[in-house]
Amino acid sequence: MKKNQCCPKCQSQDILFVSSNGVLKRNAYHDVITDYRKLKVEQYICKKCGYMESYVRDQDLEKLEKM
Ligand SMILES: [Zn+2]
Repeated sequence: MKKNQCCPKCQSQDILFVSSNGVLKRNAYHDVITDYRKLKVEQYICKKCGYMESYVRDQDLEKLEKM
């Protein structure tokens, strides 16, 4: 989805990109975006079926090692 801009669920290419200032934070149920000081995530949302994928920005991936 990130690379080919195509929804893996419905194959739609109508993808909304959201450059988020939020941060990925895990709880027992799902990932929520709360703290923008740590990792920044980008989201890709299919406008057709609503499927969503979240990615930590490339430049923040190395921070994962220190968390
Ligand atoms: Zn879709």
